[in-house]
Amino acid sequence: MKITFLGAAHQVTGSRTLVEWLPGRYFLVDCGMEQGENDFEMAETPVAAGQIEYVFLTHAHIDHTGMLPLLVKQGFRGTVYATAETENLCSIMLSDSANIQETDAAYETKKNLRAGREAVLPLYTAEDVRQTMKLFRPCEYGKMVMVDEGLSVRFSDAGHLLGSSFAEFYLEDNGVTRRLICSGDVGNTNQPIINNPQPPAAADYLLVESTYGTRLHDGSQDPIPVLTEILRTTFSRGGTVLIPSFAVGRTQELLYFFREIKQRDLLPEFRDFPVYVDSPLGNEATAVFLQCSEACLDAETRKIMKEGYNPIWFDGLYTTVSADESKALNTNTAPKVIIASGGMCEGGRIRHHLKHNLWNKNNTVLFAGYQAVGTLGRIIYDGAKTVKILGDEIEVGAEVRLLQGISGHADRDGLLAWIASAEEKPAYVFVNHGDDESCTGFAALLESSLGLKAMAPYSGSEFDLAAGEWIRLTEPVVRKKAVPAAAPAAKSKSKAKAKKESSAYTELKAAVEDLKKYADSMKNASGDEIRKLIRKIRKLTD
Ligand SMILES: [Zn+2]
Repeated sequence: MKITFLGAAHQVTGSRTLVEWLPGRYFLVDCGMEQGENDFEMAETPVAAGQIEYVFLTHAHIDHTGMLPLLVKQGFRGTVYATAETENLCSIMLSDSANIQETDAAYETKKNLRAGREAVLPLYTAEDVRQTMKLFRPCEYGKMVMVDEGLSVRFSDAGHLLGSSFAEFYLEDNGVTRRLICSGDVGNTNQPIINNPQPPAAADYLLVESTYGTRLHDGSQDPIPVLTEILRTTFSRGGTVLIPSFAVGRTQELLYFFREIKQRDLLPEFRDFPVYVDSPLGNEATAVFLQCSEACLDAETRKIMKEGYNPIWFDGLYTTVSADESKALNTNTAPKVIIASGGMCEGGRIRHHLKHNLWNKNNTVLFAGYQAVGTLGRIIYDGAKTVKILGDEIEVGAEVRLLQGISGHADRDGLLAWIASAEEKPAYVFVNHGDDESCTGFAALLESSLGLKAMAPYSGSEFDLAAGEWIRLTEPVVRKKAVPAAAPAAKSKSKAKAKKESSAYTELKAAVEDLKKYADSMKNASGDEIRKLIRKIRKLTD
């Protein structure tokens, strides 16, 4: 009985964990795509796709599911277990991912053929996704499913995304029983629409994420009054509020907030303001939210529905935005909200809206999520005077704001509280899905604050679940990155470390800039709130 750590080991994407529950019989927990820049190589899956019998998906985010169609293309013919909501979201998100793969491959092929090189094949196609979706078997929260000899699973609500879950496995081999919980991504408490994470059951082993393993959210701000103030200020000067947003999850949260503002009549002077969701994937995701099981919704959302309201729908919401309508929005000067994907302005229709709206001082660009270093979103947020969008230089004239207090992930204290709420202390905790500092820092914290045995293994490490000991602990394999011609081709480990330290320093500087911006946003806050912030800053600098 063995667990092999493959993806999201010392990094936040590419979740993939292999379990051999009986000799020669395997299942995967998540099958995610790696995104962004990663420091370490992911070990190869040590068995062929055709030998894997089951895949259990914790939730639909691409970093947990995006390689499933490739696994199917490579020969996986088993069953995919997930909640019905995860299945429905996977259907639209994997189709969207296939579309990106096919479009990128077609573009590269065109370039290659012109240069006398070979055509580029997409990683997978829409047809691979269709084959993949046939393998799903939906599960309900809280119901134990007997999957096979010696293998049962129960999904519980992880409160991270619609349909998200942590999976509790009951494994039995030759009279030895082991309970293993894989957390997937653990949600933040008090998110709109969805439930808080349920407490974990008793388990021998826990595999837990650590995206915010060493960081805390600023949870003090209620987004509704901030959002109302931003709308009022922008509409009063005749401007548009432009929100770059992730299509699935964040977009629906924003709709929930706008419904709340309209239902409570918080903006009587502009009560009929229109909201356009200019994101085909976002609108498909909204449809999945509208059809979800009530078990996925929190008590407040169910109460709103009982009172006869739709929690994410309201008068003035336009979700059928065609490409032509999308263009027409840019000549429409009436006060309005445009929510467009992508969330970090790296692609999607937001770029075309930014090109037409960013220069205008009447408008506001409102970020509703984390902007990674190097993305167009981050460059705008960091105060660039001009940016290049779709080939044109555009002045940043619009007001730039950040909506704080919303995150899909539990922070350090949230993760600790979730683990502490378990029925029983696990004998061993494996930490993954966090960058190098987060996962090692969180493992140390679990030992010091909860007295748990914990470790953040590198990719390829193997643990014997029956004997309770490591079979193999691997060394990290630093990923080679493209380096300028003048630089030496191979980097030593110490050089890679130095580069890492300097990128950590860049992050530090960015964090200081964020703090300055946050302080600026407090201009109109109450004296008490400002003094509270001063005390926090003084404590930190002391
Ligand atoms: Zn996620």
